[in-house]
Amino acid sequence: LSDKLDKALHVLKGHGSITEVNVAETLKEVRRALLDADVNFKIAKEFTTRVKTKALGQNVLTTLQPGQLMVKIVKDELTELMGGDAAELNLTGTPTVILMSGLQGSGKTTFSGKLANYLKNKKTKNPLLVACDVYRPAAIDQLHIVGEQLNIEVFSDKGNNDPVAIAQAGIAHAKANGHNVVIIDTAGRLAVDEAMMTEISNIHKAIEPQETLFVVDSMTGQDAVNTAKAFNDVLNFDGVILTKLDGDTRGGAAISIKSVVNKPIKFIGTGEKMEAIDVFYPARMADRILGMGDVVSLVERAQDQFDEDEARNLQKKIAKNQFGFDDFLKQIQQIKKMGNMKDLVGMIPGAGKMMKDIDIDDDAFKHIEAIIHSMTIEERTSPSVINASRKKRIGKGSGTSVTQVNQLLKQFEQMSKMMKMMQGGGGKRMMQAMKN
Ligand code: GDP
Ligand code: MG
Repeated sequence: LSDKLDKALHVLKGHGSITEVNVAETLKEVRRALLDADVNFKIAKEFTTRVKTKALGQNVLTTLQPGQLMVKIVKDELTELMGGDAAELNLTGTPTVILMSGLQGSGKTTFSGKLANYLKNKKTKNPLLVACDVYRPAAIDQLHIVGEQLNIEVFSDKGNNDPVAIAQAGIAHAKANGHNVVIIDTAGRLAVDEAMMTEISNIHKAIEPQETLFVVDSMTGQDAVNTAKAFNDVLNFDGVILTKLDGDTRGGAAISIKSVVNKPIKFIGTGEKMEAIDVFYPARMADRILGMGDVVSLVERAQDQFDEDEARNLQKKIAKNQFGFDDFLKQIQQIKKMGNMKDLVGMIPGAGKMMKDIDIDDDAFKHIEAIIHSMTIEERTSPSVINASRKKRIGKGSGTSVTQVNQLLKQFEQMSKMMKMMQGGGGKRMMQAMKN
């Protein structure tokens, strides 16, 4: 979708003058791009009509920079189409009960964990996860693994095959044990069928959740819309969770689902890791679809993950020239915590396309980590002692070559230099520049 829209808007961006033909051409391209992304034909048509009306109303043709105005109108309309403002979770109720629904494989269990962790990080929330997928024993184990990883309690009842009873027992357990949020993970099937609908509907009726969330795989295109409609007809759910937006992004699902069921998209999943969750901001999504990058999210995510004390400590070390390989290792771990490298790079405007063919993944760090682990404490704190024979030893110990060791030493030196530079306020300036 992005590429197509990029092309369509390219004609207009930066052009000093614009003709009516340009506008018509652009809108045709925009519509085609939307259709290609599985946006419903009617929605796409209505969208371009609205953009055209707005463009004419604002006298695009006579303004100084019609291209930019046109881009703004397309972006604003796209934002509006996806819900306008970000939608909050309804966290009332003691406890707040959140019910997950959706097809098998859509990402319910993963998202249950992500959301529990997200709420737990808000300090005032003490979530309980409840396993109601009774058909596959592995599904219950999966939730337990997630819970263990996040240090969040999981309620399950393996012998019991009545999901309604388990959900109710889970809520009772939460009340008795001071959990103020209960997240109920349910079973899904590969396609919409009556048995699944009856089951989720029964759970829904019995527990009356504050939030019923419909989880959908954004890669499923037009199917996502039909599934959303089927679930909404039965559950009248409160919000949509769009998962797997880290792959080959199909913004189309976000647009169509919102238009068809008229329910807000509340969160997006952007990876398999538990940290890969973001509030859905329609304006940012519009930016992303339009290929402008999602810088605000990127900056926020970086800030979220960066521990303040750690940062202060690091600054002191840099100032005193004590920044060593152990600190470097910590930095790498910070970066890894932020999520998949490819996702992060993809959020930088323009970089997405550039990096598409270059293979960067978490493995890129493996060599670096191995090399650092093969260093002695002395070598880590004062890298200048690393001479030729030490390099050979480190290479052997880490299963890398001396060239790779040299490479890392050089990178480290450059990084240390850069950090010193950023000390002088350069860092702040850089963050500011990214925000603008
Ligand atoms: P469920 O059947 O609805 O409970 O789905 P799961 O939570 O088990 O997820 C199915 C698969 O999708 C698993 O392999 C997850 O790791 C993966 N998955 C879930 N959410 C995301 C996401 O946001 N991005 C990516 N790339 N994979 C995801
Ligand atoms: Mg599951």
